Amino acid sequence: MEFRDLRAQYAAMREEMDEAILSAVAAGRFIGGGPVAGLERRLADYVGVRHCVACANGTDALQLALMAWGVGPGDAVFVPDFTFFSTGEVVAAIGATPVFVDVLEGTYNIDPESLENAYDYVTKHTGFRPRAAIPVDLFGQPADYGRILPLCDDLGLLVLEDGAQGFGGAIGNKRACSFGDIATTSFFPAKPLGCYGDGGAVFTDDDGWAELIHSYAVHGKGSMKYDNVRVGMNSRLDTIQAAILGVKLTAFEDHEVADVNERARWYDESLAGSGLALPRVPEGFLSSWAQYTVRLPEGADRDALQVRLREEGIPTMVYYPKPMHEQLAFGEAALAPDRCPVTKRLCKSVLSLPMGPYLSEEDARKVVETIASCV
Ligand SMILES: *Cc1c(COP(=O)(O)O)cnc(C)c1O
Repeated sequence: MEFRDLRAQYAAMREEMDEAILSAVAAGRFIGGGPVAGLERRLADYVGVRHCVACANGTDALQLALMAWGVGPGDAVFVPDFTFFSTGEVVAAIGATPVFVDVLEGTYNIDPESLENAYDYVTKHTGFRPRAAIPVDLFGQPADYGRILPLCDDLGLLVLEDGAQGFGGAIGNKRACSFGDIATTSFFPAKPLGCYGDGGAVFTDDDGWAELIHSYAVHGKGSMKYDNVRVGMNSRLDTIQAAILGVKLTAFEDHEVADVNERARWYDESLAGSGLALPRVPEGFLSSWAQYTVRLPEGADRDALQVRLREEGIPTMVYYPKPMHEQLAFGEAALAPDRCPVTKRLCKSVLSLPMGPYLSEEDARKVVETIASCV
């Protein structure tokens, strides 16, 4: 059993995929060109924003957004304590200070109250200038933007939506990657929409920011490539990856988001009463299920359960084993005014199960039965 079955996905779209890859190769253009521009247009339309700028990966996408805003030394940026390392890493990489904020137990997403506390702490007890918050659409589910956007507006914070795992999710009829002033996603192979290597994208409605992001992604170019008006980076989505994503986006829109939600319902129904706490999707929210992450009861032996499942050929993962503010990389400088007790508890109790639109009914049943025999 695969944790996320990318081979089954390829098998289902093999003909179109081979054709798309070979045409890109035959065209002999490997950077930029029609497939990249066409994909950016389709992605912007899907998400429902004016601009999409493709780039090399989801980490660069976050960094490009912060660069466009001129965030740097002396600035504080609020980041959930329970997320993948990149979300905090990019803040530190450009010389700003990440301030870690606790999350909500049921949805795993940023807790607006903890954000407000962290903001108060920074303004009262540090010399840092609060500039932005980076809510993460963790495990496929949009953060609670109905509360976050008005709060950040009140506090004067820009909102950078980290939709690396959230692409395809929605609140009502508004899609993930359209909530932040700027939003980003990742096309790392295991994300909801993945390519066959690294890739990422930045989304915004703001014409000026879109132009700046495009410039920063191409060595700070001005009117043309050899006119460099700012120091940027080299962050591009390859033409072959764009062609691959073109095929995958069609399947994603046609059936994959629906299929993965059907798999989530299988788990929801058959794991109810198992003693595990299941992921909560509030009314009106749609998840694209980057992960199906359960919580074990307090005191349960997670390592032993993982070993038992592995013996049955069932792969599981712990996303994430360590709070961000305890990561050695941030060292003494890590600020976590709320101490993030929920994140600490989650790091000890979460377990992500095999998931994806190509998970078979037979495999899902085996996961559920094996868990039932252990918990
Ligand atoms: C994967 C991920 C990223 C980084 O994306 P890459 O394409 O791997 O650089 C950023 N944030 C979150 C929440 C992620 O899951």
